[in-house]
Amino acid sequence: MSKKPEKESFVTEITPRSQDFSRWYLDVVRRAELADYSPVKGCMVIRPYGYAIWELIQQAFDQAFKETGHVNAYFPLFIPESLLNKEAEHVEGFAPQVAYVTHGGGEELEERLVIRPTSEAIIGTMYAKWVQSWRDLPILINQWANVVRWEKVTRPFLRTTEFLWQEGHTAHETHDEAQAETLMILDLYARLAEEVMAMPVVKGIKSDSEKFAGALRTYSIEALMGDGRAMQAGTSHNLGQNFAKAFEITFQARDKTVQHVWGTSWGVSTRLVGGVIMTHGDDSGLVLPPRVAPYQVVIVPIGRENWRETVLPRAQEIQRELTAAGIRVTLDERDERPGWKFAEWELRGVPLRLEIGPKDIEKSAVLVARRDTREKQSLSMDGLPARIRGLLDEIQRTLLERARQFRDEHTQRADTYDAFKQIMDGRPGFVISPWCGSAACEAQIKADTQATIRNMPMTGTVPAATCVRCDNPAKAEAWFAKSY
Ligand SMILES: [Zn+2]
Repeated sequence: MSKKPEKESFVTEITPRSQDFSRWYLDVVRRAELADYSPVKGCMVIRPYGYAIWELIQQAFDQAFKETGHVNAYFPLFIPESLLNKEAEHVEGFAPQVAYVTHGGGEELEERLVIRPTSEAIIGTMYAKWVQSWRDLPILINQWANVVRWEKVTRPFLRTTEFLWQEGHTAHETHDEAQAETLMILDLYARLAEEVMAMPVVKGIKSDSEKFAGALRTYSIEALMGDGRAMQAGTSHNLGQNFAKAFEITFQARDKTVQHVWGTSWGVSTRLVGGVIMTHGDDSGLVLPPRVAPYQVVIVPIGRENWRETVLPRAQEIQRELTAAGIRVTLDERDERPGWKFAEWELRGVPLRLEIGPKDIEKSAVLVARRDTREKQSLSMDGLPARIRGLLDEIQRTLLERARQFRDEHTQRADTYDAFKQIMDGRPGFVISPWCGSAACEAQIKADTQATIRNMPMTGTVPAATCVRCDNPAKAEAWFAKSY
């Protein structure tokens, strides 16, 4: 008769994380209504709840970009093929993933159009028109956009053929300015990943084989997911003068000579939503850090049949009070059992649940349950917004600390190849090892263990050791991991 039993199984139907992490992830994405598969292979539909998480991430990054002097603009989705072909390494790197438009308006196009896999080519072309003199520099532009990279194997948020991201593109007078910008953005990314998403990251430089096609140097932030695999969460590239030379972005310098600009580009994407899910989620579903939670608080009225008369008015008052204090709150007044509602909002990762029944009203209190620790406490209705705010801050801190502890417990050192292989074979995570800098060694390690160099933190020191795989002296300490 009712659809309740079906819904109950809906909530509990999540594969345990420990049993099959990958299955668990897909279950959470689908059951929490974050995304759905689309009729287009490899493309996902981001559903409102998932999109709300992305919007909160996006707003935090957008604000930080603007605070550091960047402005937003928008460039076309299509790039004439000849433009993409101008930077040799760039086109070679992206060729396998590029989608083309060959027809338009019922006619075959004279020149195929590339659907942007990234926008260096089109933006570089425009910068060449806009930059004349050193007075026009720096250019500090960001765009929020979709890009397309044809993928064979996809996974919602983590790897899809079309995804949303931001791409910053800057042009500078000198190498040092471009380098400072590249590292400033890397720091900004790391700070926001930790402060907003409660996702601790390792900052470092990529090896040559992992760097962006056409860049001088690529830096990344790398996070560790709940199954011990690493996820590249953002990249910042010093492009040197490679794109400036390919696209003829020149300027008259202060000394009247004509020079090429120095460029950077940097991006984070909807992949971050996947990072949030896999960093904090548990067997009951999502666990959202308050700063990216579409609802920070859910109010569930408790009571007998007449709860709409006895409890609901007070629940609505509390909702208004919390909303006025800037807290994102929803009131679940559906005709379902409270237990069913609890499971539903746990699945969706809402940080705090407020239960209010007739007895609570008599005591002028509410029962508050934390999603992260599942602790319950009774809070007085007096000064409730400030107490809730305090709890949300504490949850945000707890989640970061917990994730940091997990990361540290899953980070080990290995100085011999046997030890390295043994660790990678068993419990995964980061393995820090000395590396000689040879691409051949790096490739062999990947072939043997599936692990890649995620990045190399810029400590400024060279380890006094030999490479973990060969006997040559190490050039750097590399953080290895199996990755998404
Ligand atoms: Zn080596």
